[in-house]
Amino acid sequence: MVCPVCGSDEAIILKNKLIKGKNKEIREFLLKCDECGSVYNERISQDNPKPFRLIISEHEDTHKIFIDLFPDEQLAVGDFLMSELGKVKITSLELEGEKRVKKAIARDVKTIWASSEEIPARFGVSIDLHGKVASFKCETERDFKIAVDDILKIDKYVARVHVIKTEERKTTKGYAKAKVIKRVYAKPVKFNHFDYDLTKYIVQAKPLNKHKS
Ligand SMILES: [Zn+2]
Repeated sequence: MVCPVCGSDEAIILKNKLIKGKNKEIREFLLKCDECGSVYNERISQDNPKPFRLIISEHEDTHKIFIDLFPDEQLAVGDFLMSELGKVKITSLELEGEKRVKKAIARDVKTIWASSEEIPARFGVSIDLHGKVASFKCETERDFKIAVDDILKIDKYVARVHVIKTEERKTTKGYAKAKVIKRVYAKPVKFNHFDYDLTKYIVQAKPLNKHKS
């Protein structure tokens, strides 16, 4: 909005009216210029929200739904959206021709790919048994913290965490929250005490595997 008399863009809003059209939403302003005091009208129109395809992954399940968004809205990987299935995080934006991008204006997007932020976190736990590996999948609350050097119990093993692999990196220091952990590597210790027991969180256990490396 720019004053038609002096060209200043500083103004106060005297009146503000919303007109809902069939395809557009129009906001009509009555403005008073801060510089010269002229009173003028301004109209801002925005396309009405439209449904966009949204595919939400929940571990191995996917849900295909629609979400209403303003076509002018800027979307980016990592953004959160509130869908009818709860909060989701955008993981990819698909344009026409199956092209995938990290940022786009909603109107150009064919499908929004996202992961659910409502479900428990799932991560793997590997217990290194000198040449063999006991492997588990666990599900915990998303904010459950695991630190390097934690002593954990899982199934019949008590083990010390030595590496945490997250979506971004592998670390041998500090801690991570379950929602970003891919896998925890631990080595058995001869203790009877432990910091926590993951046994009740096991959703899948694999018999002993031979080390691949
Ligand atoms: Zn003016």
